[in-house]
Amino acid sequence: MNIQDFIRDISDFPKPGILFKDITPLLANHEALVSCADQLSSFCPKDVKIDKVIGIESRGFIIGAMIAERLGAGFVPVRKKGKLPYTVKSRSYGLEYGEDTLEIHTDAIVPGEHVLIHDDVLATGGTAKAVCDLVTELGGKVVQCNFIMQLDFLKGKDKLDVPIQSLLTYS
Ligand code: IMP
Repeated sequence: MNIQDFIRDISDFPKPGILFKDITPLLANHEALVSCADQLSSFCPKDVKIDKVIGIESRGFIIGAMIAERLGAGFVPVRKKGKLPYTVKSRSYGLEYGEDTLEIHTDAIVPGEHVLIHDDVLATGGTAKAVCDLVTELGGKVVQCNFIMQLDFLKGKDKLDVPIQSLLTYS
């Protein structure tokens, strides 16, 4: 099974000039979905127990929760500004297309916990970097950031000083 076959390119979405990688065909195929979650879970270091998996809104929630289940970890959503009901820590960041603010509940990570961050796409790295900073501010340790795909030409990995893993790399 080739996961790449289930990623669809959409031109000029959400803005002219952007080639959007659409993962909905992957999510819609049971075998591809399970394979994706299994592989990303297997990339996780074996010598450390992951306490929490963070999924980044919104596409990171789906596979992120599946990875948490496989690793025996809890799941923590990081959401866009104003969506979480309890007290939050916030971080603004630059996106491939625009700017945004991400938030996490202040009690979502217990100091000292080992955290794995998951999102669908690593592009410029601003999103993942903001989430790494939130985890660190709460006293957590980011063990790995993993992604379904990384867009290497946008150099996102240069922004991250933690190990990263991706199923697919686009050069
Ligand atoms: P970055 O902050 O530039 O690395 O952008 C990553 C964020 O934007 C992730 O949360 C992705 O969901 C989203 N994103 C950027 N490009 C794409 C894409 O081509 N397909 C799907 N999501 C994307």
